[in-house]
Amino acid sequence: MSECIFCDIVQGKIPCAKVYETKNTLAFLDIAPINKGHTLVIPKKHYPTLFDLPSELGKELLEVIQKVGEALRNTVQAEGINLGMNNFKPAGQLVFHAHFHIIPRYENDGLSLWPQKKYNNNDEMLALAQKLANNI
Ligand code: AMP
Ligand code: ZN
Repeated sequence: MSECIFCDIVQGKIPCAKVYETKNTLAFLDIAPINKGHTLVIPKKHYPTLFDLPSELGKELLEVIQKVGEALRNTVQAEGINLGMNNFKPAGQLVFHAHFHIIPRYENDGLSLWPQKKYNNNDEMLALAQKLANNI
């Protein structure tokens, strides 16, 4: 066993419910689904978070996410799809091998959106947008 459970899955050291793979990506069912069919899409190579992923890999990952998402709509009659990614511990990341969650959603499935906050005023919001833009 290595230190990364998803690397172990890629290497076949531990089993997974595989749904799709490409040269550089693997998609398999999340063992504890938010709704049945909840799928994880990962790069086969170990990168801890979004910020470590080479951007060339992004196209392949997005294509797989679209394919699996579309198949989920047909397979489990998903009425909606959430795409999620947790990066770093405060955001809920438990497995430090970058992965995307594709979550089938239904009207009235009991999940509520995250609580939202407010800016103090529009100036504060615009100033933050400018500060962020300056850092890109
Ligand atoms: P995150 O909180 O974004 O790091 O999510 C990690 C996800 O991996 C969780 O939703 C777990 O249920 C899922 N998970 C952990 N171990 C396995 C496994 N062996 N096979 C499938 N999914 C797993
Ligand atoms: Zn890994």
